[in-house]
Amino acid sequence: MLSRRIFSAIGSFSSSILSTRTVLLNGVISRAELCLSCHLLDAEKEKKARPPLTDREFEGKPGYLVVKAPLEKCIEYLKSESYKAVYGDDPVWKNYRRNVVGTYAIRLRTTCIRKGIISTGSACPICRDDYLKFDYRHTELLKQFAAPETLQAMNPKITGLCEKQYKNLQIELMKAKDRGTLEKYYVPRVYNMKYYKGAAKQQSLLLQQEQAELDKNTSDVYVQSKT
Ligand SMILES: [Zn+2]
Repeated sequence: MLSRRIFSAIGSFSSSILSTRTVLLNGVISRAELCLSCHLLDAEKEKKARPPLTDREFEGKPGYLVVKAPLEKCIEYLKSESYKAVYGDDPVWKNYRRNVVGTYAIRLRTTCIRKGIISTGSACPICRDDYLKFDYRHTELLKQFAAPETLQAMNPKITGLCEKQYKNLQIELMKAKDRGTLEKYYVPRVYNMKYYKGAAKQQSLLLQQEQAELDKNTSDVYVQSKT
């Protein structure tokens, strides 16, 4: 007990003189000192933290403050020349590559944006661009991420979306189906009834006959060429 008191006395004395980190190293700290040290450490962290990047040059990069454009501008953007210069005629996710080993990531990201700032290395194709946003009225973008016949959302491991955007996509697709902005269609299929059950036997016999005739003709040609 005595030794502990001595140590605490030394600790309190040193804390008043030395910095907060040395207080933590001493091993014997009072609650008041700990709170003060934590507060000081937080202040240090705040000093070190950089302000968010706002220039368009840093768009999509970590630390960039995301401000999504209004819907009207987003729709205009897909028809503009600047969009064609970046993406061409391909869908938005075509040339996207996430920073993982292997072809596809095993797990999806929860989000790319935290507190309005991009927090990941290679943000997903929707989070990284200010002018891309899922909305049931924005049908051209939804079509890029959905199957044309069934209007089901594509696998996010292929498109590279994060969990948040994938959920958002599913909700907006449901809305689009419900409100009639997108319609699903079925490709008409023409079936050849020759290949069904009893018809298949007849078909095979016909094929055999054709093959036999072909063999005859080729043998005749071979004989003619020899003579
Ligand atoms: Zn994302």
